[in-house]
Amino acid sequence: MENCIFTKIIRKEIPAKIVHEDDQVLAFHDIKPQAPIHILVIPKKELVSLEDLTSEDQMLVGHIYMTIQKIARSMGFAEAGYRVVVNCRDDGGQEVPHLHFHLLAGRGLKWPPG
Ligand code: 5GP
Repeated sequence: MENCIFTKIIRKEIPAKIVHEDDQVLAFHDIKPQAPIHILVIPKKELVSLEDLTSEDQMLVGHIYMTIQKIARSMGFAEAGYRVVVNCRDDGGQEVPHLHFHLLAGRGLKWPPG
């Protein structure tokens, strides 16, 4: 995962528009937004996909969701609503091999997705 783009963002080797950072997670704007608000929330721990989570990561996953709620409230779109998406592996459409949660908001989102 050394060369993974998100690892480089965590290490501040490449820039990103960061909206939240703490010791466990980083959240930043997606470079190619699919909605007016499109934020990626990622664990700093090197996990390739949702399939790499173990029972040890339960607190981390809870922290990620609470962080998403905090971002939604502080950025003012919690009331209107939002969507959280995790693409897992090839059939899930995952392109970047570092676990990430897409946080989409700012317009009515269609269902079902792709
Ligand atoms: P995936 O398809 O893996 O679920 O989503 C990867 C996401 O990362 C895509 O929405 C893509 O636009 C975003 N992305 C890829 N490279 C970069 C980058 O260098 N910076 C930022 N901020 N987002 C990126």
